[in-house]
Amino acid sequence: MKTDLLKQQTDASLAALKFDNAFVRELPADPNLDNRVRQVHGACYTRVLPTPVAAPQLVGFAPEVAALLDLEPAACTGEEFAQVFVGNQQLPGMDPYACCYGGHQFGNWAGQLGDGRAINLGEIVNRRGQRWALQLKGAGLTPYSRRGDGLAVLRSSVREFLCSEAMYHLGVPTTRALSLLLTGELVIRDMFYDGHPKQEPGAVVCRVAPSFTRFGSFEIFNSRSDIDTLRRLLDYTIRTEFPHLGEPSAAVYLQWFEEVCRSTATLIVHWMRVGFVHGVMNTDNMSILGLTIDYGPYGWLEDYNPDWTPNTTDAAGRRYRFGNQPQIALWNLAQLANSIYPLIEQVEPLQAALQLYGDGYKQGWQSMMAQKLGLQSFEPATDLTLTTDLDQVLRLVETDMTIFYRRLADLAPLEGQDDERLLAPLCDAYYQPEGLTEAHKLQICTWLRSYLQRVARDGVDTVQRRQRMNAVNPKYVLRNYLAQMAIDRAETGDFDLIKQLLEVMRQPYADQPGHEEFAQKRPEWARHRAGCSMLSCSS
Ligand code: AMP
Ligand code: MG
Repeated sequence: MKTDLLKQQTDASLAALKFDNAFVRELPADPNLDNRVRQVHGACYTRVLPTPVAAPQLVGFAPEVAALLDLEPAACTGEEFAQVFVGNQQLPGMDPYACCYGGHQFGNWAGQLGDGRAINLGEIVNRRGQRWALQLKGAGLTPYSRRGDGLAVLRSSVREFLCSEAMYHLGVPTTRALSLLLTGELVIRDMFYDGHPKQEPGAVVCRVAPSFTRFGSFEIFNSRSDIDTLRRLLDYTIRTEFPHLGEPSAAVYLQWFEEVCRSTATLIVHWMRVGFVHGVMNTDNMSILGLTIDYGPYGWLEDYNPDWTPNTTDAAGRRYRFGNQPQIALWNLAQLANSIYPLIEQVEPLQAALQLYGDGYKQGWQSMMAQKLGLQSFEPATDLTLTTDLDQVLRLVETDMTIFYRRLADLAPLEGQDDERLLAPLCDAYYQPEGLTEAHKLQICTWLRSYLQRVARDGVDTVQRRQRMNAVNPKYVLRNYLAQMAIDRAETGDFDLIKQLLEVMRQPYADQPGHEEFAQKRPEWARHRAGCSMLSCSS
């Protein structure tokens, strides 16, 4: 009796979610409700319900994201929550739909893509007046599912759930993740597309963001010369997500594009700061809000290698390798510029806006590097050489990027230090410290000396420099092998490591004594293990 009462109370807070579905209200709908794979014209979305599943089971939820929706943690553990956020039940006010969008995949126009396995539940407005769209990933077929099954497996859902939240706490703009549920059903996946299909547990993540609109959302209408829908989508986007720009007009469209260029530059600077490789920077995976979106075969740089891509599908061309991300973002922005050109009909201002990206990225990167190194500001006269040489030093032998920067903050001032003492704090950053030759040591120490001289010229004391550096150089990132260990355990029904990682990643810059195990460099077993060093788009 008592527990029944309690259950009603917690369920009641779910019912209090206030839906206000502006996207479906304001934008053209597909009049066809037939949930069959097809081309959809003249519409931004198709109404579609999630496919019910057998046995939803909560794996985890993020209390901070629940709070954005005004949900108490207790409301997230009940039966109703599981039914709703796996897609079996709809709350009053929900109006589920899948979006139509297109995109350039690996540099080629791919035509209509769309939400093939994402179903939007609607938008809520919280007590602070913020609008949040809720979206289930892996909730079944939609007209945009193409050859896919509309489903997601546990391994990729754990990765999306944990990384969305880890990125948020690192200060990187991102979509959020409310919940992760098992569906109680099995899904067949051929992980490396090499003729070894396996059954895997199915799962659903509920993603949360102000909007999930992508570059490809605009590209699809331009590609079809559907200028009317293109304009409606852009006007809607400006009115709801960029209201500070004022009433839509050709001049405002341009300002909007400039803002997308700036926020994209900021986003990529953050990725480069923390060592994140998205892995599939197709234009359908680029958010117009400058958020990290669509966590697929992403990875974290462990040993610093700008040529690394986690995505086996990208192994040949390495288009989406770490060091290429800034160029690719520009290329993607150029596609977005092309797609809104019919609304502006002037090339030069669009080109000037793309230049804003280039300038914004360069400036952002320089001040980010200055912060990573604990410098007051980036002084090109000295610091261009300093950072170029650092790049060489980091590539010299396998060097853990995260540990290297963290340990760099511990270096004492130069006076009286011989090479051995200078290098000591950094030893842990090397995957094979015993493999460092005298020549390597000399090159590293030469750089360390010029760095410490530069620091001395800045006049910031050691304690303050350390604090500043530790505020931008994380100690904890969601290392590829950590996520994989959490997946391995979750596949046996043990969700503890997911919870622990979620908790540790909430304070990535804090020392967190007792949690050092999550700050260790990649163990040898993970070097060539699937899921740790190699991933694919199959998820
Ligand atoms: P992605 O590479 O994950 O961004 O996916 C590209 C496109 O394929 C998007 O339109 C996705 O919705 C769609 N897609 C990916 N996986 C599936 C799947 N299992 N079922 C249906 N559509 C999918
Ligand atoms: Mg995608």
